[in-house]
Amino acid sequence: MYKMMTPGPTQVKENVRLARARECGNPDLDEAFFDFYKETCELISQLLHTQNETLILGGEGILGLEAACASLTEPGDRALVLDNGIFGEGFADFVSLYGGIPEMYTVDGKNPIDVQALEKFLEKNHDYKYATLVHCDTPSGILNDIGTLCPLLKKYGILTVVDAVSSMFGEEVRVDDSEIDIVCGGSQKAVSAPPGLTFVTVSADAKKAMAERKTPIASFYANLQIFEGYYEKKWFPYTMPISDIYGLRAAMENIAADKGMLARHAKIAKECRELLTEAGIKLYLQSGFSSTVTVFDVPEGTTAQEILDIMRKERHILLAGSFGSLAGKVVRIGHMGSNANEKDMAETMEALLQTLKKLGVELKGR
Ligand SMILES: *Cc1c(COP(=O)(O)O)cnc(C)c1O
Repeated sequence: MYKMMTPGPTQVKENVRLARARECGNPDLDEAFFDFYKETCELISQLLHTQNETLILGGEGILGLEAACASLTEPGDRALVLDNGIFGEGFADFVSLYGGIPEMYTVDGKNPIDVQALEKFLEKNHDYKYATLVHCDTPSGILNDIGTLCPLLKKYGILTVVDAVSSMFGEEVRVDDSEIDIVCGGSQKAVSAPPGLTFVTVSADAKKAMAERKTPIASFYANLQIFEGYYEKKWFPYTMPISDIYGLRAAMENIAADKGMLARHAKIAKECRELLTEAGIKLYLQSGFSSTVTVFDVPEGTTAQEILDIMRKERHILLAGSFGSLAGKVVRIGHMGSNANEKDMAETMEALLQTLKKLGVELKGR
């Protein structure tokens, strides 16, 4: 086995793995499981600082993004797609798939979305049903200021869908303060449960938009409205993955008990960037570094694959390359959730610098 230091999936703690081994009831018939599901949802809402209802869906992160778009989009609806990264851009596909018209707001991918520039744009263009944006766009590690961007969009009556899959719990997400209508999370990033689940928080305004639709939601599995009244009716739209939800609950309880989690992420991320910069390795971003992942340019004279291979085969540490336009150009260190501990990071960084040296990269001070 190797040490997983990827930006998702992340290391899964033993108590989460054991929780998944609990005896299984029938989640469709066991009334106690409806309570367990609802209480787990309430814990997630609490951890995201919101009164909004959380729904856990049986499918990994992407299902949450698709469900948000499927549930809000009617044919012909306009959606503003804020794009400064690969996941940001990708939202356009979900808008189109459900008959919406995505309008791209594409900006520089090495810095966070500029609030003032967006404000200027919105003064003239604001006829959108909703906007999509990404908190941490993981392939580059860029962190957008959802706390300012979402209230600004909301001021123009635009609903917001935020992908916070790889940021939440490593970066603060305050749903109510930020007026986010739908925030999407996943089990396999800083939550540190295995892949398999997504969860979304849904605001009253988002529910109203769904209730006022003239056409039905063009999906069953990605339909958020279908959960309406599940608890009162003791009815789930499909059989819930009960063991996954037991694991998720344990992971959420770990987070609730870990008061230093955000500060630890910030410290580890800062140390990671400093160590690389001091060694003369160039970070991919100019500003807007997420505390959950660090992305650096592949130094001249070597390749991403060589770095990843030596780290995995000789050091038994798994780092990640990237994809899309960043494939082969950068390497990513995922220091989120359980990965974000001083011991694993110290080991990873030492192994990484030695690996780079072995590959002939000249490092400052080494
Ligand atoms: C991981 C991730 C998702 C979930 O999708 P994957 O299938 O794991 O790629 C969604 N959004 C972001 C920003 C992510 O990092």
